[in-house]
Amino acid sequence: MKKLLIAEFRHETDSFCPQKADMEAFRKRGLHMGREMESAYRGVRNEPGAFLDVFGRREDIHLIEVLGMTAMPSGPVTAEAYAFGRGHILDAIRREQPDGVLLALHGAMVAEGHDDGEGDLLEEVRSLIGPDRPLVASLDLHANITAKMARNADALVPYEEYPHTDMYETGYVAARIMEGMLDGTCHPCMGFHRVPYLNPMFPSALPEIQVFLDMCREAEAQDGVIAVRLAHGFYPSDIEEMGMAVIALTEGDAALAQRIADRIGEAVWKGRDTLKRHFPTLDEALAMLEEPGEGPLVIADASDNPGGGGLCDTTFILREVLRRGLRGIAFGMFADPDSVRRCVEAGVGQEVDLMLGGMSDPAFSGGPVPLRARVRTLTDGFYRNRDEMNQGALNNLGVTVVVEAGGNLIIISTHRLQPYDAEIFRHCGISPERQRALVVKSAVHYRNSYGKFARRMVEVSLPGFVVPVPDGLPFRKWKGSAS
Ligand SMILES: [Zn+2]
Repeated sequence: MKKLLIAEFRHETDSFCPQKADMEAFRKRGLHMGREMESAYRGVRNEPGAFLDVFGRREDIHLIEVLGMTAMPSGPVTAEAYAFGRGHILDAIRREQPDGVLLALHGAMVAEGHDDGEGDLLEEVRSLIGPDRPLVASLDLHANITAKMARNADALVPYEEYPHTDMYETGYVAARIMEGMLDGTCHPCMGFHRVPYLNPMFPSALPEIQVFLDMCREAEAQDGVIAVRLAHGFYPSDIEEMGMAVIALTEGDAALAQRIADRIGEAVWKGRDTLKRHFPTLDEALAMLEEPGEGPLVIADASDNPGGGGLCDTTFILREVLRRGLRGIAFGMFADPDSVRRCVEAGVGQEVDLMLGGMSDPAFSGGPVPLRARVRTLTDGFYRNRDEMNQGALNNLGVTVVVEAGGNLIIISTHRLQPYDAEIFRHCGISPERQRALVVKSAVHYRNSYGKFARRMVEVSLPGFVVPVPDGLPFRKWKGSAS
């Protein structure tokens, strides 16, 4: 019987975020040891969910589940947490001597002492398993794919979609490549072409990027081509090899794979000036409240997106809404454990005085907002995603409250989380469809779920730790030009 080792070790690192990803950050978001991966991911529409499905039907392959380990995006992974994840994977390989290793990675992990978190991990895995045993990894669309990563993996498969509605499908492709390699029916050759361009946060549905995705799909339709993918890169990571990359996987034809990757990579580089985004000002976004139409206006506070490394507590929009006396707006959400505690102490139905959010440098956070609010709802902060992205996954906000202030509803949670699924509102008794407007701490992912009922969706670029365009960021390590 063949032995296959699977593990998930994911972090998207924003070098500009002052908060690090320590063991506690991984415990809060997801740390599942060994067979606990089954209960955490069986039936969930993500990469480990797909790995379990593909190999669950193979009685002749023994699955060794090492760990599922993921934290909210933030500053670098601490040396301790990196050693924990990496150490468990490498120890399990030494102990079990598997016939193959299949990993769910992000591709933009920076750890203390290791700028290329995944490159370093893949190199170590390769040195343990040697050149002949297969090593395959799925990646996020926002991977910064480095030469070291490409050199050490047999196949890397990034997502295609932003919002990431294809986590499961990507995991499935990676798992099927691994299955074929174990069976001797698949012999992937990987072409890799880096495009040293810093792409802004760019939804994959926009026509400017569809041009390149069409090229990937056309190439993929050729005989002998397994998959062709375009990774967008993640510019807040601030490492030397940031940027976009094309991956082309063929059945046994290295020259063809490289030709495809080069052709598309060169086209992206040539067309990079089309990959720019314009963001309205907060004034312009709030003026959209007056436009007619059914359903809420959704304003995304992209620069404070905890899914990119924001601290989920900036107050620029809330402050302006209160100053103008605007009403009927629901905010999802502020991560502010102290305010949660004060609300819980006061009790449901009671009034409470808060200094909400704005806990880091006021230049980035807007500073705390004094607020007299009434506590409306108290929840345990658990909810499952309903829509396509990471469908079925369980989220944990910690103890969470809803307060009402100035005719607006504000969700305040204990933990940070990107509210990309509108279930966050429903779980605490707010009908998102019925609000005049929603303000969400998200960049692009929210478009999948909120797009089902929103009148209009708009992203604003305010101060924060994850501004949605790279221009003007104080890079120290990136060796390229942003334009
Ligand atoms: Zn991503």
